[in-house]
Amino acid sequence: MSASPGLQARLSEGLRLALVYRLAHELNADLTPDEVLRRVLNATAEALGTPHASIIAVRGNELRGAYALGGGDGEPLPVIRRVLNDGLAGFVLHNYRTVIVNDITNNPLWMPLPGESWSPQQGSALCVPLIHAGEVIGVMTLAHPSRSYFTADAINLTSTISEMGAAALFNALLLESARQAELRYSALFDDVIVPIIITDLEGRIQAVNRRACEFLGYAREELVQQNISAIHRMGTGPIGANRFDHLKRGLEMSFQSVVWTKDGQDCPVQVYAKRINSPEKGDHIQWIEHDLSPQLALERLRRDLSAMVYHDMRGPLGNVYTSLQALQRLLAEHPDPNVISLLQLAARSERQVRRMIDALLDVQRLEAGQKLLNRRTVALSEVIESAVTQIEPAARDKKIGLRFALADDLPMLYIDADMIERVVINLLDNAIKYSFEGGAITVSTATSVQEVYVRIKDTGPGIPPEAQATIFDKFSRVKQRNMPHGVGLGLAFCKLAVDAHGGRIWVRSDNKTGSTFTFALPIEAPATKELPMLGAAAP
Ligand code: ADP
Repeated sequence: MSASPGLQARLSEGLRLALVYRLAHELNADLTPDEVLRRVLNATAEALGTPHASIIAVRGNELRGAYALGGGDGEPLPVIRRVLNDGLAGFVLHNYRTVIVNDITNNPLWMPLPGESWSPQQGSALCVPLIHAGEVIGVMTLAHPSRSYFTADAINLTSTISEMGAAALFNALLLESARQAELRYSALFDDVIVPIIITDLEGRIQAVNRRACEFLGYAREELVQQNISAIHRMGTGPIGANRFDHLKRGLEMSFQSVVWTKDGQDCPVQVYAKRINSPEKGDHIQWIEHDLSPQLALERLRRDLSAMVYHDMRGPLGNVYTSLQALQRLLAEHPDPNVISLLQLAARSERQVRRMIDALLDVQRLEAGQKLLNRRTVALSEVIESAVTQIEPAARDKKIGLRFALADDLPMLYIDADMIERVVINLLDNAIKYSFEGGAITVSTATSVQEVYVRIKDTGPGIPPEAQATIFDKFSRVKQRNMPHGVGLGLAFCKLAVDAHGGRIWVRSDNKTGSTFTFALPIEAPATKELPMLGAAAP
């Protein structure tokens, strides 16, 4: 049977253009893949006058959707799968080409599907692949009860529509994947147990997850459109220090800050921020605000506990001290020199343990940022002399000579004299401890307009250059053979103590002339420096 005059009329140039225009317009909208399938199939079937038609979307071997004329709401999925495996649609899908069957009754690819209104038992069929970017993403089948119904014109029109349909279907499938990914991200974003805030590139809050609302105590609406800096304590927040510039350039940042919660609490946080690229919604910045308060509370507990232990050790140690003093007095005239030297050794060891405990307590106190409480105006020379008196016996034992070059006009300083005395003792102790027998130690002072310098030079083994930068860190020790043992706290204490006075400490050392430790204290006492609690926050 040839094409009907009605069909020819429908396929006039004008009508074809009108149909293509209408469909292009309709497909332009933000459609789901199912809607695209429906519109493409309806428009084609209407234009060609075919009462039977079906369309299938695939990705690889996976069926992504199907629609058939008069097929009702449910998709005829099991039948479609059979057709895709063994029928005409499967053949077209695998061979990437349009097939016309002029008489379906004697074509083995046309599967008899009684009961499926979209698949007639006789007549002709046209089956076209939907190809996008060289990939088959679907197949459309049109059937008519008449044999040889499809003309060249009909085929041309169908290929035009199928090209448009393929592009629209591809976009719809892409959009659907993007939407699903976004849905998955939103669910994850909201359920994740760390507070996350999303801002635009200027810091205006666009979204907050549930945990962030709980943490900050605000409702979502109260936070959206606020600036991210409004929830951070002045000077600790993201604004400043060129953070936005760095973030805009794509650098990831991590820094410590303090957030203000709605109930007026200050909460320390570690902020991780980075730029997220999103072509659809515009780039934004993701801020993860990791709550540090549990960690800080634990740190405080640990510090308090150890401070308590160190403090409690002082009591029994005081008893050891007074007992040793009493014994030394009682046995002063003892005829056996071994008894005397054993007592002296015990007294020295007791002093060393006491200094170690004091250093531990001081390090903790200074690290916690506590202010210097016992400042008074003193002569630095007195502080040095007192320190020297305490280490003289140890120097004598090791036959180390002590030399002095103290300036006469040393100014009075407003310092914690006890603390600075312990700094000098620590440096002298080290000089003696690490020097060889018969060495020499020189204590000298100097002044500039702003500072007083105290220098302790020894003739010991020196400190390797690579170790010089770290010896002021807590528990840092230089690993050298045949060196006396220590715990690595003395220099950490010295640095914290000098820093707390607004001063500086450094070392010059080589393995030929020994080491020279110098510390400088400002003559005009500055306000006590506040030290950070968790180590220096990254800018
Ligand atoms: P400790 O002496 O208890 O180990 P310190 O913090 O006082 O701890 O010193 C850290 C390290 O620096 C020491 O272990 C030692 O290796 C090195 N050091 C300190 N002072 C001297 C010195 N005068 N000569 C050589 N090495 C030194």
